[in-house]
Amino acid sequence: MAFDYDLLVIGAGSGGLAASKRAASYGAKVAIVENDLVGGTCVLRGCIPKKLMVYASRFSHLFQDAVGYGWEKVGPKFDWKYLISAVDKEVRRLSDRHISNLEKAGVDLISGRGVLVDSHTVAVGEKKITADKILISVGSKPVKLPIPGIEHVWTSRDMFGLSEQPKRLAVVGGGYIGVEFAGIMNGLGTQVTEIIRRDYILRGFDGDVRRELQEGMTRNGISVYSNTTVEKIEKSNGGLQLTLAGEKAGTLEVDGVLYAVGRKPNLENLGLENAGVEVKNDAIAVNAYSQTSQPNIFAVGDCTDRANLTPVAIDEGRAFVDTEFAGKPRHTNYDNIPTAVFGDPEACSVGYTQEGAIEELGEDRVAIHRARFKPLYHNLTGAEERVVLKLVVNKENDRVLGAHAVGKDAAEIIQGVAVAVTMGATKKDFDATMALHPSTAEEFVTM
Ligand code: NDP
Repeated sequence: MAFDYDLLVIGAGSGGLAASKRAASYGAKVAIVENDLVGGTCVLRGCIPKKLMVYASRFSHLFQDAVGYGWEKVGPKFDWKYLISAVDKEVRRLSDRHISNLEKAGVDLISGRGVLVDSHTVAVGEKKITADKILISVGSKPVKLPIPGIEHVWTSRDMFGLSEQPKRLAVVGGGYIGVEFAGIMNGLGTQVTEIIRRDYILRGFDGDVRRELQEGMTRNGISVYSNTTVEKIEKSNGGLQLTLAGEKAGTLEVDGVLYAVGRKPNLENLGLENAGVEVKNDAIAVNAYSQTSQPNIFAVGDCTDRANLTPVAIDEGRAFVDTEFAGKPRHTNYDNIPTAVFGDPEACSVGYTQEGAIEELGEDRVAIHRARFKPLYHNLTGAEERVVLKLVVNKENDRVLGAHAVGKDAAEIIQGVAVAVTMGATKKDFDATMALHPSTAEEFVTM
């Protein structure tokens, strides 16, 4: 049977864009369907605008730090509307760039919402498009909890479009988004209270990272309410009143509330049932090659809820295309994925946490190397900020299983360390590497 396309991709986010362009480069006839701007969460309302806002927020530290280096103290004013509009402009520029890249690659862009009609057909409005293979890369969306007053809250998506900067913000959730937005808004001058249901933020991260980052955030002016949950949210005079339960039981008055309690795959009205695509735990079920229960339909990225990170979605998309369109079967390797939390301070990790390594190998077989110090930069600023670097090592074969860092430039440091960890470097290899002095990163080879 002749199809309109060899590959039809639903969703022009990181995974879908990467897959469609690579398939076209192999000579496949490809179309991609999108009902929003092109770019997906990362470009439009995630990594990119978030990182731009992180940069904006860090100037507040720099203005203060500069005084220790002889610069006159200044009383800078921040213009929220300007930032929001500058970020929006940049996001739109990037989205346009993605459209021209699709054109250059020879991929047809179809605007509208794609709905599966059967295993080879996708409806976009009135139009029906057929394809030999279909890739679903529709991403995820924020979860909202069913508590009274939830209609008053913002999600991360709303934060990029607020017309006014809130003076007081409550952030609910201690994951990536909660920690990052708490840092951004605090740095921009908002009074931030982060409400988490456990002792520490970032469950699943190394214990030292969780503690150091949370202490650093508190030092930088963020109030962290541990072991606390929100029972209800009501409108109050000009703002919102939160009723809290747990360690900080009582009420909290704020101007806005950001909910960042996780994301879930965007699967509503996608017609998965029409095409026999199975869903498991609210996500599209796939095998290692991103193949769904329907052999010609594949899915990558957040909608499969594996490792929900942009570089992973891109690799999943390309691996699918290499396998299906180039005869080079491969699948994504989920070991040693480096990850950063662009909070204030910043934290990053690759490989095993101390807790994870001990659970797998037993305490006797795990060695921990840890350095905690004041970075040279702060010797003149007077700030109390500390850097923590940590290596988790398998005592039996000396292999470095994990590396973690909290503090200035942590994310920039860990990418290089991730290469060594991925290659199976030993602690001896780290020790045999000449230090780059003076730097923060050198502690990884001197501790
Ligand atoms: P996360 O899953 O990272 O964190 C969710 C947070 O909400 C956790 O602290 C969780 O607590 C808490 N939570 C969950 N349910 C409840 C509840 N019922 N009541 C109170 N608290 C609750 O989700 P995010 O929304 O922060 O981020 C979503 C995803 O986006 C991440 O998993 C990540 O993949 C991606 N992302 C990556 C970034 C990066 O790489 N820098 C940046 C931003 C997002 P508990 O731990 O107790 O479950």
